[in-house]
Amino acid sequence: EAEEELHRRQRIFAEAQERYYEHPPQIERGWRHHLIDTTGRSYIDMVNNVAGLGHAHPGVARAAARQLGSLATNSRFLFRGLAEYSERLVALMPEGSGLDTVLLVNSGSEAVDLAIHLAQAATGRRTVIALREAYHGWTMASDAVTTSAYDNPDALGTRPDWVHVADVPNPFRGTYRGDDTAAQYLVDLSSDLDVLAAEGRDPAAFLCESILGNAGGVVLPHGYLAGAYDRVRESGGLCIADEVQVGFGRMGSSFWGFEQSGVVPDIVTIAKPMGNGYPIGAVITSRRIADALSAQGQFFSSAGGSTLSCAVGLAVLDAMVEDDLQRNALAVGDHLAEQLRTLAQRHPLIGPIHGAGLYLGVELVRDHETMEPADAEAAAICERMRELGVIVLTTSERSNVLKIKPPLCLTIQSADHVVGMLDRVLSEGW
Ligand code: PMP
Repeated sequence: EAEEELHRRQRIFAEAQERYYEHPPQIERGWRHHLIDTTGRSYIDMVNNVAGLGHAHPGVARAAARQLGSLATNSRFLFRGLAEYSERLVALMPEGSGLDTVLLVNSGSEAVDLAIHLAQAATGRRTVIALREAYHGWTMASDAVTTSAYDNPDALGTRPDWVHVADVPNPFRGTYRGDDTAAQYLVDLSSDLDVLAAEGRDPAAFLCESILGNAGGVVLPHGYLAGAYDRVRESGGLCIADEVQVGFGRMGSSFWGFEQSGVVPDIVTIAKPMGNGYPIGAVITSRRIADALSAQGQFFSSAGGSTLSCAVGLAVLDAMVEDDLQRNALAVGDHLAEQLRTLAQRHPLIGPIHGAGLYLGVELVRDHETMEPADAEAAAICERMRELGVIVLTTSERSNVLKIKPPLCLTIQSADHVVGMLDRVLSEGW
């Protein structure tokens, strides 16, 4: 049945439409951090960061059904829940941050596009600095700042001139290997800023994730984000934190990724887990920056901030608190990272373990000195893990990092089971 469904999909989809696995299972339903396919087979889902609360959350399902059965309208009207949802989102920002204004959209890509619009409108400048190896989305502007060769291979030829790509401060490989204070990186960023100034292209914004998601979940070097933000602000630019993947409780020890670095951005983009599967995105910024958008006309999104998205969004926020998910992300994430590090001592294929909370990356390398990516091995391991009932997939430009970003309700028992399965697969002869 899955094969038949795959043929139907392939006949009607473009080749470029990404899919997981050569022969994906046909998923029928989900429950918490489990997926069940049409043959009744159950899998532990280690990658779905959209269903942050877990699949089929009853509170969210009830709220959505209730709303769909009563009223469907948009944010140009007044309805109960619109201001409340917006207030609750803003209240998630650190106290005194000045991030007090929200614009509601439907996806991460849209949020990134809007953040870029805002920064350009507020500064009267065009240039946006993005880091190499990043993924920020698929709409025109978010794609332009998507610098990963894997996701945007043609970008070097077609990238618009308002994007400046800065090197990525990865202390594990590349230009800045071993520099865990990002000292040289910050020197280079300063000279990039000098060059841009000399060309009359001072930045409107500096945009990055608070953990290098697409580079494999690499935690930013100590002091890097603060140093970069200082330099960009000295040059008159704004700082955008893309929290689509890493924010919203996943870090465990903080609600937002940027809090790990002790900084406050000017503009924050959020999406994925906000609707637990229903599409919701948002940009949170200060009133001053948000008001700069007036120069571009009136802003409106048909479904962003609709009755349904507010109802679902509120139910998600309630459930995050009721289920204590941020704390679970910390406890289970720390435990999992520790187990993986122990496993690494017995399996030389495992290189550095990246990430924080329930956003982890297990980098597989053939040689710890050269950091040669074990990409074929990573792909084979994912296939074998799936046979054993665990959905784990690869990320990074080199496709050699096992990405671990499960629903935040993952249990210690399931985490241990996954580590046990990985141990078994790695023992099978790599
Ligand atoms: N920013 C980041 C950091 C992302 O990971 C993604 C999605 N993977 C996006 C933006 C785009 O989000 P969406 O797919 O909802 O458009």
